[in-house]
Amino acid sequence: MSITISDIKQFVYCPRVIYYNYVEPVPRKTTFKMEYARSQHYELNQKEKRRKLRRYDLLEGKRFYGVTVSSETLNLSGKVDILIDTENKTGQRYFPIECKDTDQKIHKNILFQLSAYAMCIEEMTKTPVKKGFIYIIPEQKAYPIMITDAQKQYIRKMVSMIKKIIDDEHYSEPRSKKRCRDCEFKRYCNDCDLPNFQTIKERNMTLIKELFGK
Ligand code: SF4
Repeated sequence: MSITISDIKQFVYCPRVIYYNYVEPVPRKTTFKMEYARSQHYELNQKEKRRKLRRYDLLEGKRFYGVTVSSETLNLSGKVDILIDTENKTGQRYFPIECKDTDQKIHKNILFQLSAYAMCIEEMTKTPVKKGFIYIIPEQKAYPIMITDAQKQYIRKMVSMIKKIIDDEHYSEPRSKKRCRDCEFKRYCNDCDLPNFQTIKERNMTLIKELFGK
């Protein structure tokens, strides 16, 4: 069973998403957030083609866009936004760059996504990939990210956990119910009538009562 790097990102967000992707597929709604991210990605790629590599603190190299990378060992594949080939004969030659439209902090799922790209590139090119970048579109800034052995080990673990969910048709517990609020699958999860939602509702109602009188 082959899985995608996007599955890893989603697994970190909530393992139950894997169930909806593979075991019992459900219709997916394209949210405004997703549409916006897509348009930002497209715009970035157009602009990025005209920019210099200095932005990444790399002196020279060729840029490739939307490169498919894969690992036979892990049965894993994905598409990295930008791959830089520095053509260095020593040290690291290839640098993966993942672009994000978030204006929030860089979350773990994005870090693991980058690590998974790095592992695929290492296997494909037989060269070490110890560093990559996350490019934050609203800031127009690239953040260097070190790819550690611990992250790689965790990727291997996640890949086997994802395969287990699929093989055993396991309906996992939510990673964190706080995430359900912004999740595109929330209408399919019956346990999302969350205490924190209830708290918010009650707090809002108290506010309304205070403002308008009982
Ligand atoms: S709604 Fe919550 S439990 Fe369901 S998939 Fe999304 S995050 Fe997981």
